[in-house]
Amino acid sequence: MRYIECCLDTAPEEIDARCEELSALGVGGFVVESEEDFQSFLENNRQYWDYVDADLEERFRGLSRLKFYLTDDADGLGILQEVRARFPAVRQNTVEDADWENNWRSYYQPIEVGEKLVVVPEWEEIPEGNRLPLRLDPGLTFGTGSHATTRLCLQALENWAGPGRRVLDLGCGSGILGIGALILGCDSCLGVDIDPKSPDVAAENAALNGLTSERIRFLSGDLLKDASLRRSLGSGYDIVLANIVADVILPLSPHVPAFLKPNGVYITSGIIEGRQDEVQRALEASGFRILSHTAEDDWHCFVATPRP
Ligand code: SAH
Repeated sequence: MRYIECCLDTAPEEIDARCEELSALGVGGFVVESEEDFQSFLENNRQYWDYVDADLEERFRGLSRLKFYLTDDADGLGILQEVRARFPAVRQNTVEDADWENNWRSYYQPIEVGEKLVVVPEWEEIPEGNRLPLRLDPGLTFGTGSHATTRLCLQALENWAGPGRRVLDLGCGSGILGIGALILGCDSCLGVDIDPKSPDVAAENAALNGLTSERIRFLSGDLLKDASLRRSLGSGYDIVLANIVADVILPLSPHVPAFLKPNGVYITSGIIEGRQDEVQRALEASGFRILSHTAEDDWHCFVATPRP
């Protein structure tokens, strides 16, 4: 099916009224693109972002428009005619690809990580070779392997994962790190994320890799605000992972020694260039000794162990 993408510039205060008028003409759904919405999205999702791509911000500057899609057939063209009569300024563009809803998938390709793993999107073939495949359908959660911080953590895991080890994955998102730990030989994992979508998405990803809920489980909750959640996670873990952002890692790290065995390791990333010294000092102040510090694309990763 081909679609007609229509675009209408609209003052921010008129967006609701325009949507109503267009709905009355038979338009089904809208994408609102405005600088104001973009800014409030960032504000409400502060915990996920440490920085915003300047290009992206530029793209939204001064913007306020409505986008909607019509089918490129008699029904859609009929609606378009009425929309045009009412709003002559509407711009249109035919989307050639029948599968525009799934176009984003083509951005995900198998990604080799470190020496041992290859992250393979669910809909792609497993590439030939000796690498261990980590199957993933990222859905709407964070953690596809395409971000440097995820790769840095998986690389660090190659050195620390192994039989008999128990793992705690803080900010587990798609579950990628915990799943990676088990593929690399660890026994079991518990993952936690503030995003209520995470447990289902992560459990589906675990199932894609043949991992059952006896070995890997996921919960949702706020690790900073919910002390009873933290207590319920237990202790004695061999590996604690936290790939979040500096603003969460700083207050979270003092709680991490209580989760770990005496010679366990804490692998933490999500630390953007410029915040690494502050995070390193906070880890040391929480009783950790730094075992390694790696970086890629302006992102940093620390592996640390509790000082005796
Ligand atoms: N572990 C995945 C996802 C990292 S993104 C990977 O390595 O790719 C960071 C995750 O931390 C997000 O999914 C976010 O929802 C979660 N997060 C942020 N603040 C949190 C908090 N206070 N408690 C629990 N999870 C949190």
